[in-house]
Amino acid sequence: MDISRLIKRAALVAGAIVVTAGLAGPAHARTTTAAADTVALTFDDGPHATYTPQVLDVLAEHQVKATFCLVGTQAQRYPALVRRIVAEGHALCNHSMNHANMSTWTDAQIRADLTATTQVIRTAAPGAAVPYFRAPYGAWGRSATVAAGLGMARLGWTVDPRDWSRPGVDAIVDAVHAQLRPGGIVLMHDAGGNRSQTVQALDLLIPQLRADGWTFTFPPTLAG
Ligand SMILES: [Zn+2]
Repeated sequence: MDISRLIKRAALVAGAIVVTAGLAGPAHARTTTAAADTVALTFDDGPHATYTPQVLDVLAEHQVKATFCLVGTQAQRYPALVRRIVAEGHALCNHSMNHANMSTWTDAQIRADLTATTQVIRTAAPGAAVPYFRAPYGAWGRSATVAAGLGMARLGWTVDPRDWSRPGVDAIVDAVHAQLRPGGIVLMHDAGGNRSQTVQALDLLIPQLRADGWTFTFPPTLAG
């Protein structure tokens, strides 16, 4: 598996060189410098009593900071986990109160939901910053605009290994390597079902990505 990963990485870099050759100017010259590549890990739908602590343990073991997209009702059930996420230096993202599809909601409906969700998060972790919003199912509708008005940046993703479908640890790992590009945002889940594959994949992925030159970061807050 290591060798196929290296081949994929080489193909990725080769692809970057081809793209770079087609562009004028020195601004693109760093495309092939692996050390400058950044990736943001994001975890949706928690906190979850079993899997959020496991994800946090893996992140702590590898000294990586990530972003957690919290569902309000889950934050209400597990306030101590919200505090742990914050205490360990991770970032918070508002992922709505009930994980409803908001694509047809009015601004007022969305604003009420997002405000209530942030309130629940801050009840659990007083004073915590919630700089991001991610729409459930990526069904944005008006929500990105409303979220921006509430001071939250739209948090999308560029890498989706479909870990929620439990495709197997190797499939999750391989999908991340195949889809990742510089500045990538990886979508994974610490809740919503059995996430033991996600936890195992994460433990493999972090050292592999580091060895490939990736640096872990938070998503940009001015994206979208
Ligand atoms: Zn979700």
